[in-house]
Amino acid sequence: MKIGFIGLGNMGAPMAVNLAKAGHDVTGYDMADVTLDGVNMSASAAEAVKGQDVVITMLPNGAILRTVAAEILPGMHAGAVLVDCSTVDVDSARAVAENADKAGVLFVDAPVSGGTVGASAGTLTFMAGGAEPAFALAAPLFDIMGQKAVHCGEAGAGQAAKICNNMILGITMIGTCEAFALADKLGLDRQKMFDVVSTSSGYSWTMNAYCPAPGVGPQSPADNGYKPGFAAELMLKDLRLSQQAADSADADTPLGQAAMALYEQFVENEDGLGQDFSAMLPRFEKRRRA
Ligand code: NAD
Repeated sequence: MKIGFIGLGNMGAPMAVNLAKAGHDVTGYDMADVTLDGVNMSASAAEAVKGQDVVITMLPNGAILRTVAAEILPGMHAGAVLVDCSTVDVDSARAVAENADKAGVLFVDAPVSGGTVGASAGTLTFMAGGAEPAFALAAPLFDIMGQKAVHCGEAGAGQAAKICNNMILGITMIGTCEAFALADKLGLDRQKMFDVVSTSSGYSWTMNAYCPAPGVGPQSPADNGYKPGFAAELMLKDLRLSQQAADSADADTPLGQAAMALYEQFVENEDGLGQDFSAMLPRFEKRRRA
């Protein structure tokens, strides 16, 4: 396939390289000066999308996605598909879907989980929203860049699935960390705490697979000085998106709101910026009851 790829940062670059390695003809554009193995670079986004069957975007946020989409949609040919893999707000995904439709272009929102490790290894999970024919066109590319793609529904459904999942993740990480900090103060050994909880009703992905206590459970960022992994500021971004969506859908999400406030405090006023999101545990360890 002829593919345009816009946004070649930590995630986009390895994804584009994997598509080129699989034999696709990939033309890239990034506002930063980027060169990649096997990827032809263009001088502008508009140029990168000309004549392409598929255009993939991997950008920082919804405002940038809207700007880039306005620039590229007029230059895409009818029947081509725009696949946005960025994590953005549901409203931006739906607005871009509508503009694509007006331009005769198919649209899929397909945010990912799996991080930079998954992007390099081609093992991402895609959560996709959009019409069936659009998903069908993009599916073979998801197979190259990832290990799984779930078609969640109409446009915006991929972003909705992503932020609901990550709202659970943020809330659960805080719960796991505050329980470890309480266990410490009660004199309970962390390994014993893990042995019990990981096989009892308190088990979760954050406890069992990504344990925030160093030296306990499988290898995780806690065993590497809390170097991300999944940075606290990216968790904050996703929690903010969940609360923006909850506002716009009039949904009551008190724990999501509390989790956002806590990560905001951690990232903006404490030492959370640049640490893994599981560094909530040393944060709680240092604190006393408010
Ligand atoms: P990044 O900042 O490394 O990459 C974004 C790239 O977009 C940069 O290279 C930047 O120069 C480029 N860019 C910005 N504005 C542009 C424009 N107008 N035109 C062209 N290029 C432009 O970010 P990333 O870590 O690659 O994340 C990309 C997206 O993936 C984000 O939405 C993020 O939330 C999501 N995501 C990231 C991870 C992760 O672990 N990094 C995991 C899952 C999802």
